[in-house]
Amino acid sequence: MALTGLQIFKLMPKTNCKKCGHPTCLAFSMALASSKIALDACPYVSDEAKEALGAASLPPVLKVTLGAGEKARDTGDETVLFRHDKRFFHPTCIAVSISDSLSDDEFEEKLSKINDLEFERVGERVSIDAIALNNDSGDADNFLKKAKIVAEKGKYFPILISSSVEALTSAVVATKAQRPLISAATVDNWEAVSKLAKENDCPLVVRGEDLDATASLAEKVSQVTKNIVLQTNSQNTVQKLSDLTQIRRQAIRKKFRPFGFPSIVEVSAKSPLSQIAEATTYMSKYASVVIINTCEKAHILPLCAFIQNLFSDPQQPAQVVPDIYPIGDADDNSPVYCTTNFSLTYYTVEGELSSTKMPAWLLATPTDGTSVLTAWAAGKFNGEKIAEFMEEIKLSEKIKHKTMTIPGYVAVIKAPLEEKSGWKVLIGPNEASGLPAYAKANNA
Ligand code: SF4
Repeated sequence: MALTGLQIFKLMPKTNCKKCGHPTCLAFSMALASSKIALDACPYVSDEAKEALGAASLPPVLKVTLGAGEKARDTGDETVLFRHDKRFFHPTCIAVSISDSLSDDEFEEKLSKINDLEFERVGERVSIDAIALNNDSGDADNFLKKAKIVAEKGKYFPILISSSVEALTSAVVATKAQRPLISAATVDNWEAVSKLAKENDCPLVVRGEDLDATASLAEKVSQVTKNIVLQTNSQNTVQKLSDLTQIRRQAIRKKFRPFGFPSIVEVSAKSPLSQIAEATTYMSKYASVVIINTCEKAHILPLCAFIQNLFSDPQQPAQVVPDIYPIGDADDNSPVYCTTNFSLTYYTVEGELSSTKMPAWLLATPTDGTSVLTAWAAGKFNGEKIAEFMEEIKLSEKIKHKTMTIPGYVAVIKAPLEEKSGWKVLIGPNEASGLPAYAKANNA
């Protein structure tokens, strides 16, 4: 049974040193009782207390690492049900499935498309995370051959899916250096497959017919290995969503240990757009790995963007380092545009300016990651602040001319900015989408 905050407090050092990020040991104990922090955040807790705290010292959802080396991804280790309570830590892994029944040429072609599923968005590299190989052929030798290809040529960690223990065994042994996710231990094969996972140090999917069967199976498998990812055999979207939600809710609210692991789900939809809609449903609540079949870039990018937003810290707006950035082959005669350092604003403006193929400079002023009008309303994006920043980075020493374009929405700061900076200020369009036409019209 879960301990209360006061029961935990009795075992804490009571020095109130604040090293854990909480003002007192009591506040830390309360946070630990509600699973908002892990016990190891306190560096001074004694071994006796760790032992006495038992399950309370474990995170409600264990961290499980899938894959190895550069392809490895951490899953689980989440402490809240709602992002606004704190944040979600480990982004859902996107896995794209590939069938071993494809011909050799078709297989290579799809693998090559999967390997190409990476993008740059708001200054970050985003991509899929895993390649799920399905043993549709039912042939163990063919599965082994294709598993080796995925392990050698695939850019993402492998998931090996087969109902045959024989096929799984040969493929896992041949690719164990990649720590493939083995799918799956079921009520019929769990002893042999758990042993296979344990001996080769690979994570393992535990799949029951329903929630009760999955909990009972997870309890048995966890005696052999703790590298578990949970799955139920539910077939429709509503039931899958309900299962994923129950698994996470029981783990975090009730500390129900058999559900204290990451989860995996496969979309049922056939059409690519329905697959994407279904996948985002599961990512919202609370899949750690989602398997889809489409491998078109236009379908995958929205999923990556969704994950990027869902797993950001809601208390920390995405921002770029305040500075002056070149666009194209900018030199000291190129025009200067001014915006804020909110990532979405900055990269929207940067994208529009880049599309003109005209060199320019983009000044990302420090506004704590807020957008143009928000920053202006908060007094962070006005003539004085921008002029101060121009002075701080010695902008006049880098640029020969003294003309700058500001967003049309804040035309009101033109006069004070001219007065404080000594630069001539031009009023640009309200929206970034108007910049290409503006740049060409001004030959700026
Ligand atoms: Fe108390 Fe440990 Fe936090 Fe220090 S780090 S305030 S001892 S819980």
